[in-house]
Amino acid sequence: MTPFSDLASAAYCPRQLYYRRREDDRELPAEVKERIDLAYRYPDSVDASDATLRRLPLRRSPATYRRNLSRLRERDVYDRLVDPVRERAFLSGRDCHGIAHKVLGPLDDEGRIPVICSPGEPPEEGVWEPQSVRAVAAAKALAWERERTVPRAVVEYPAVGVARTVRLTTRRKATYRRSLRAARAVDGPPKRVDDDRCTNCEYRDRCGVGRRSIRSLLG
Ligand code: SF4
Repeated sequence: MTPFSDLASAAYCPRQLYYRRREDDRELPAEVKERIDLAYRYPDSVDASDATLRRLPLRRSPATYRRNLSRLRERDVYDRLVDPVRERAFLSGRDCHGIAHKVLGPLDDEGRIPVICSPGEPPEEGVWEPQSVRAVAAAKALAWERERTVPRAVVEYPAVGVARTVRLTTRRKATYRRSLRAARAVDGPPKRVDDDRCTNCEYRDRCGVGRRSIRSLLG
């Protein structure tokens, strides 16, 4: 059974997953937890003062954050985001298991919707691929539990005040399956990806990407 977090790492870079599995402590840093916890306090934050919002680990100014939450409040999904049927729900499917930060009640006849929260920044549109893979994994696990199709998930960026819908398209499901195969195949250290992904990777020093780049610059 593969954890959702391993799938997301494998989607980013299988070598990153190799390092992560060797960590003694795989607990989330306190700052990450605090940013995810923002997803459970939108009704307080949407009208909060600048002083209150400045005490929170936001990634936007108080004014921009309130504006983003006001936009979110206009969407159909908002009432379910602030009043989910489950919080921090452990989901266990056929292949994967892990935590969905929320499970929402049905918007229409599509049934329940799992939510994954990211402490980071969203892309311009849609969601980053590792988050898409994690969202598909959560939807598949929920579908397995409830014995019915779950055609979409939501990824929230609570430190920004943005939520994005993730539909389980053929392409997204193929990426999920590829990541699952990659996660299962990690045994020894996989090849380095050696591209833009390395710039923000926490294992960059250990991986030696920077040192190799300098050596190649020196010829
Ligand atoms: S530094 Fe690059 S190759 Fe190494 S683990 Fe990170 S993303 Fe992968």
